[in-house]
Amino acid sequence: MSIRSVPGRTDHVVVVGAGFAGLSAALHLCGRGRRVTVVERHPWPGGRAGRRDVDGYRIDTGPTVLTMPDLIDEVFAAVGENLSQRLELLPVAPAYRAMFADGGRIDVHTAAEQMAAAVREFAGPTQEAGYRRLRDWLERLYRTEFDGFIAANFDSPLNLLNGRLAKLVALGGFRRWDTMVKRHISDPRLRRVFTFQSLYAGVAPQHALAVYAVIAYMDTISGVFFPRGGVRALPDALAAAAADAGVQFRYGSTVTALERVGGRITAVRTDRDERIACDAVVLTTELTQTYELLGRRPRRLFPLRAAPSAVVLHVGCRAAPSASAHHTILFGEQWDQTFTDIIRDGRLMTDPSLLVTRPTATDPRLAPDGRDLLYVLAPAPNLTGGGIDWSRIGDSYARSLLDVVADRLDPGVHDGAQLLHVDTPADWARQGMTAGTPFALAHTFAQTGPFRPANTVRGIDNAVLAGSSTLPGVGVPTTLISGRLAADRVTGAAPAITTLDLKARSR
Ligand SMILES: Cc1cc2nc3c(=O)[nH]c(=O)nc-3n(C[C@H](O)[C@H](O)[C@H](O)COP(=O)(O)OP(=O)(O)OC[C@H]3O[C@@H](n4cnc5c(N)ncnc54)[C@H](O)[C@@H]3O)c2cc1C
Repeated sequence: MSIRSVPGRTDHVVVVGAGFAGLSAALHLCGRGRRVTVVERHPWPGGRAGRRDVDGYRIDTGPTVLTMPDLIDEVFAAVGENLSQRLELLPVAPAYRAMFADGGRIDVHTAAEQMAAAVREFAGPTQEAGYRRLRDWLERLYRTEFDGFIAANFDSPLNLLNGRLAKLVALGGFRRWDTMVKRHISDPRLRRVFTFQSLYAGVAPQHALAVYAVIAYMDTISGVFFPRGGVRALPDALAAAAADAGVQFRYGSTVTALERVGGRITAVRTDRDERIACDAVVLTTELTQTYELLGRRPRRLFPLRAAPSAVVLHVGCRAAPSASAHHTILFGEQWDQTFTDIIRDGRLMTDPSLLVTRPTATDPRLAPDGRDLLYVLAPAPNLTGGGIDWSRIGDSYARSLLDVVADRLDPGVHDGAQLLHVDTPADWARQGMTAGTPFALAHTFAQTGPFRPANTVRGIDNAVLAGSSTLPGVGVPTTLISGRLAADRVTGAAPAITTLDLKARSR
């Protein structure tokens, strides 16, 4: 299928933003022979993969669950490199530990037999058989939708009308996520292990499309990884590879305006009074800001719906090497209510469910000797409801969440605990994120695939969008893909290069 691409010259491309989408776009464009300048308002790359160094702790303030290393490899391969030259990516095992309010727990392993045994021990042989069927379904779903749906540009919803769509329908991809998992697994606690990821998509499992169950594939089958040095090491490595390949970076420069002649952007202006002439521009800014820069409003039948948000606290505590896994999900008893609370009612969770990450479980050097670093993420309403005064309750809510961690995971966290940093929806809003959510637009049906805001702009030939507000959506793997899709819009589609291809070429 040929897709629309930027007509005319595309020799010099300016990429706005050095988050995952911008870095991926820059590397793909550079690998295809374009001169690339990246303009980033912060002094470092990474965007939402934020960083903060406090009292000897190296805190990652954004993503913690890193999946799909092949996609990361593909981005390095775009300039002839591979991931292992730049980064030590350590496997996280178990991928998760799930702990339930009734005291039950199960470790989520990505190896089929190991996980089947864990399921049998946790819920018996019938559920084990169901798990094997579910795994097979998730694998087929992923294979069917990856190229034609996730990693695809759309000029119109009609682009979906191909053989893959029929297959996806047959696999139940347009039914509800929860319904499809229920077909295989009847144990409600076990079901949560394969549906909680719908939170990442910003939709309750009962409402999310089953196509998003690929997130469960990424988490529970493809594996979870952690870069030595913290998640921040990944954007640093991508930026270093891009710089070595010839990409120019202008850090500490905010793009304030785009110059346009007719239907083309001709230059980018920054707050440092720079004027950077360009043949095309890739914008990875937040959607509202993108449209402001373009002087446009998106034309849509339905108003855009923001994803729910999160409160994230970072805590230093006494090291407890065997205390917990790298990622632990603490499911509250009223897990189903969580979605109603934060999405429908716009209020705090009545019975908190939390993701507790202990990065020092994999890389102890992220904290001072004898100390651990904890990252606690609590789903929270975004600011559209406006009912919560975060400046008033932020810190006390954070402390109450720490009590939940102490009660349900590790009483030792209170032992000399230091609350190092807290981000609430008000803080995400202060960083320019619409509706105070770092998770952009919810992945509702009307904001999925060809119905998500497009990465092209009507009436402007050489501006392309990338990042979590456009397709395919929120998350590290997906924003890396969005960078490649943006590069395809600039240069026309190019076949993805993998590390295997590079090895084959050098033989
Ligand atoms: C707390 C949290 C937890 C998360 N957890 C996970 C997880 O576990 N797994 C996962 O896969 N994903 C997770 N995510 C989501 C993931 O981090 C994002 O989807 C992804 O990083 C977004 O990348 P991006 O390039 O689209 O946007 P951004 O990272 O926001 O990049 C945009 C860049 O543009 C720059 N910029 C903006 N405006 C301008 C301007 N005018 N001029 C110059 N530069 C500008 C910004 O500074 C930024 O660097 C999480 C995010 C957060 C915040």
